[in-house]
Amino acid sequence: MSRVYNFSAGPACLPEPVLRQAAEEMLDWHGSGMSVMEMSHRGPEFMSIHAEALSLLRELLAIPSNYRVLLMQGGAIAENAILPMNLLGGAKAVDGPRGADYIDTGEWSLRSIQEASRYGPIRVAASSRGSGSISIPARAQWDLDPGAAYVHICSNETIGGVQFHHIPDVGEVPLVADMSSDILSRPVQVSRFGLIYGGAQKNIGPAGLTLVIVREDLLDRALPCTPSAFNYRIVAEHDSMYNTPPTYAIYIAGLVFRWIRDQGGLTAMEERNRTKAALLYEALDRSALFSSPVDPACRSWMNIPFRLRDARLDGACLQGAQAAGLVQLKGHRLVGGMRASIYNAMPVEGVQSLVAYMRDFEARHG
Ligand code: PMP
Repeated sequence: MSRVYNFSAGPACLPEPVLRQAAEEMLDWHGSGMSVMEMSHRGPEFMSIHAEALSLLRELLAIPSNYRVLLMQGGAIAENAILPMNLLGGAKAVDGPRGADYIDTGEWSLRSIQEASRYGPIRVAASSRGSGSISIPARAQWDLDPGAAYVHICSNETIGGVQFHHIPDVGEVPLVADMSSDILSRPVQVSRFGLIYGGAQKNIGPAGLTLVIVREDLLDRALPCTPSAFNYRIVAEHDSMYNTPPTYAIYIAGLVFRWIRDQGGLTAMEERNRTKAALLYEALDRSALFSSPVDPACRSWMNIPFRLRDARLDGACLQGAQAAGLVQLKGHRLVGGMRASIYNAMPVEGVQSLVAYMRDFEARHG
């Protein structure tokens, strides 16, 4: 067996010890005589897996007790609709849905804005689109409505490679973040947010699981059209078991949470991710052939898009990387070039190999 360094933006590489443990437990989980995939979600075996995953996650993120963790389905794109359905209603919405403010920092923000607009009045309070979505608009320029139901940001733009490195202050209005691609990559002060959501397939586990961390006072603001299976209050009251949850994905997520804890938790992840990102950005900034298009103040630690001076070399660069066991480096079609996604599970050695490959490529083509 030979494993590659997989730089995919998601589904992404998982920690190898997690995959090994899952393989060992595939046919018989802890003497139950069953695979986790075959267990009733209401049986004691799966209930213990579910409870442990939730408690590990609460421990890792130090989630305050007035927040509920919901394990949902549909991914972040579904959540783009589920979120406004759940937060634009409530007592103040007697004359129709309330409005929400969105900050546009790239493609995933835009998707969120477009989807949310189907459910209520959505305002774009700030945007970096005019300048190429390679930075984050300064907080002083955000035109926020103090009466908004929430302010939405995408904490890390997976396609553009732009990341918030500070939590913006939005006053009393609940701050909501799509953290699909940077959750668990470093400590985060959950209490600064009203709600955090994200798909699992980058830093958490297999696709199919969606995580929502929501402050309790936001649970009763749903529009009447909200489907029961997506209603935060109903999901919370049923401990995320209102409908059959994505059991296997939850089990793997639990193993990933344990792996993160055993590595030293989110401070250790932060250290590791800072080191990996610095290695790659330093290589890009030193290079005469490769470059990063993103404003240095908000370069992502997770997704690093980069370009060649001459785009006609992209094909050769990607092909050579593939042959060297460095795979899934092709940039998103909207951006082109290359992109290295270096989530928690990407070891420092993977980034070192990539940097060595780039240096070698430059020596041959520079
Ligand atoms: N938001 C962000 C930041 C993402 O990176 C992605 C997926 N790459 C999505 C939303 C959409 O996620 P999904 O396809 O799981 O719905």
